[in-house]
Amino acid sequence: MKPVIALVGRPNVGKSTLFNRLTRSRDALVADLPGLTRDRHYGEGRIGERPFLVIDTGGFEPVAKNGIMHEMAKQTKQAVAEADAVIFIVDGRQGLTPHDKTITDFLRKSGRPVMLVVNKAEGMKYTTVTADFYELGLGDPYVISAAHGDGVHDLVEESLDIAMVQRPPEEDEPQSLAKHIRLAIVGRPNVGKSTLVNTLLGEDRVIAFDMPGTTRDSIEIPFERDGRHYTLIDTAGIRRRGKVFEAIEKFSVVKTLQSISEANVVLLLLDAQQDISEQDAHIAGFILESGRALVIGVNKWDGLTSDQRDAIKMDLERKLNFLSFAKTHFISALNSTGIGPMMKSVDAAYAAAMSNLSTPKLTRALIEAVEHQQPRRKGSIRPKLRYAHQGGMNPPVVVVHGNAVEAIDANYKRFLEKHFRETFSLVGTPLRIEFRTGK
Ligand code: GDP
Ligand code: GDP
Repeated sequence: MKPVIALVGRPNVGKSTLFNRLTRSRDALVADLPGLTRDRHYGEGRIGERPFLVIDTGGFEPVAKNGIMHEMAKQTKQAVAEADAVIFIVDGRQGLTPHDKTITDFLRKSGRPVMLVVNKAEGMKYTTVTADFYELGLGDPYVISAAHGDGVHDLVEESLDIAMVQRPPEEDEPQSLAKHIRLAIVGRPNVGKSTLVNTLLGEDRVIAFDMPGTTRDSIEIPFERDGRHYTLIDTAGIRRRGKVFEAIEKFSVVKTLQSISEANVVLLLLDAQQDISEQDAHIAGFILESGRALVIGVNKWDGLTSDQRDAIKMDLERKLNFLSFAKTHFISALNSTGIGPMMKSVDAAYAAAMSNLSTPKLTRALIEAVEHQQPRRKGSIRPKLRYAHQGGMNPPVVVVHGNAVEAIDANYKRFLEKHFRETFSLVGTPLRIEFRTGK
């Protein structure tokens, strides 16, 4: 599980500037999806080989009628509770304010490790810019410039070190689970996740047990169905109570993100008896961004008229068309209908995500694509594509080598993606294309 870092501080201290700096290196896939409003407050970052989740708790207003604590309690409490370490940002140009003290008290009560960070410190002396803040009693402040990047790398390294101390050491995955398909079932509250889990485990179950000892709150449940092995991983929003799984009330974005990133295949559950909501679209966006294989289950398909069913299909097409690479199944977790075919799609999505694409085959497919349609000239430059190799799995990454590849536009990239997808029958997994110059 990735460590979780929360950015906390009053408005205007530079939280979103830091957030953007930490997350911007990521593939900006979701950014150009029309109609998808992203929850900007959760992101993935990476320093070297170390991935982490970052939460920007920004957005609370300073003392309004209800007071800062009211809003903070609402918006920040859960984030802080779910974080392994807190980066508490103050403004070095403005100096210490009463709100900083209020926030300090709140953070101290949370019991989370806190790193005090003085931002906007570019061009200023350490002693001058930090002098004010010792009063908070949080030790020597870190000094950064979120806007210019000074000190950010070291800060994140240290915060990750601190975050990791908070966690028990990860156990190696038992050998027997190595070949399992790791499956996460995600969806907003009440779509039927726990009903589906119980249906999956109840029917053809061979074994189901908790595997404690990994990360806090994490569960992994191996099970077998039609001779295939799966591990249900930390399914967000449901918990074991006695023999069955039940929904827990709160929806946790962090848990959902962690489940997605731990999975090979994500099963996104939607509720056919409700409209597709903004929250559904957010979760879908997270899955897409993660690159995980995906199957969509539209649950509660029982008891609907055919007019209602048509309306839902249209709604899906309109709101989630960016997930067209994934198979959709209409199911009833309650009546256990449609589950078998849906699990077949899970298997197929896994196989596609784990495809081995040989360099000769990829190169042949690339040449075919180029013969069919050349990349466009940009000024006097025409990109020349030479060969392709596989650069990763789950999602499959195709690295295309050539000259002047920086002149290739988004349309052509999409065209190549479609061509590779069709050539290698990659259903149920996103596919990423990267371009590289020279040999
Ligand atoms: P947030 O409300 O805490 O998310 O703050 P923002 O990230 O929106 O930043 C508030 C203002 O501070 C913006 O005008 C930023 O450009 C500015 N700012 C952020 N980081 C720095 C910095 O390192 N140095 C300076 N001089 N300004 C900064
Ligand atoms: P979760 O919050 O996503 O885990 O959702 P639950 O599994 O707790 O289900 C929420 C409600 O939807 C419960 O009352 C279930 O009985 C009901 N439900 C779940 N699956 C179905 C289904 O396939 N059809 C119908 N009609 N109701 C269902």
